[in-house]
Amino acid sequence: MRVQRSRCEDRLKKDLVYVNGKLLPRADAVVSVEDRGFVFGDGVYEVLRAIRGRLFATRFHNERLSRSLEGVRIKLGAKDSPSKFVDVGKELLRENGLLDGEATLYIQVTRGATTRAHYFPPEGTAPTVYISTARFTPLIELAEKGAAAITHPDLRWGRCDLKTLNLLPNVLASQAAKEKGAFEAMLIRDGVVTEGAKTNFFGVVDGTLRTHPSDNHILPGITRSVLRDLAADIGIGLDETPITVDEIPGLSELFITGTTTDVMPVVQLDGRYVGDGKPGELTRKLQRVLSESLASGGD
Ligand code: PLP
Repeated sequence: MRVQRSRCEDRLKKDLVYVNGKLLPRADAVVSVEDRGFVFGDGVYEVLRAIRGRLFATRFHNERLSRSLEGVRIKLGAKDSPSKFVDVGKELLRENGLLDGEATLYIQVTRGATTRAHYFPPEGTAPTVYISTARFTPLIELAEKGAAAITHPDLRWGRCDLKTLNLLPNVLASQAAKEKGAFEAMLIRDGVVTEGAKTNFFGVVDGTLRTHPSDNHILPGITRSVLRDLAADIGIGLDETPITVDEIPGLSELFITGTTTDVMPVVQLDGRYVGDGKPGELTRKLQRVLSESLASGGD
């Protein structure tokens, strides 16, 4: 038992990451100070969930990464593709001793390193690809009792549907939430709730489950779309009519979703209880179906 544990610890200590074709220890991994991700936030990323070494909803993440790359006009090298990055991720999970329990896989692609200029780098500049893994522990206790959230202005750009590295408005909103002891910030644009700073947003108004439509003002969350299908399977419809600020006091249930958040009930918003201040019935049902789907292994 002792020997097994120390072997496992040895493997974990390796903590390999992938940078531009090479696997190397995280501490030795470097990118140029001229990398466009560093200088401009000029890149895109994905976060996937691994449960006992199996990645969840890989196809959806690959499709979203392709869409983000296309949306910001980053071209991958001939030998690269989102599915190749996922294969690298699987290798990292193995190498880093993350085939048990839960983990996350992070994939980031930037427009590469070049002398600073706003327009695109010269033709042939290779994108920078960085892939890493991390141990992950689901927020089980918080998901049981429910989280607090605040509302915050949505200060983001007009292409929130692309998963880009430009997360400054999300960072500021998340910090504002943290400073108020809340888990998430609900972003408000033109009088409606768009989504959370790192999650999608669902509410129950007059018995109907509602969320913001999938347009340029929200990230099309993978958990959001998996959950919409799971809800339909059990006869729960989803109305994609945004929830207005005026409707917030009338919400009977509220929850947020994300790859590392699952279905997280929100029981307090701006210091006021949502409904009776406990996770609602519909939220509980959807929590259950999502966790069954996650446990059944993904692809
Ligand atoms: N919305 C935003 C702004 C996010 O950053 C995220 C996740 O990072 C989500 C929604 C949830 O997306 P997913 O379910 O794909 O993790």
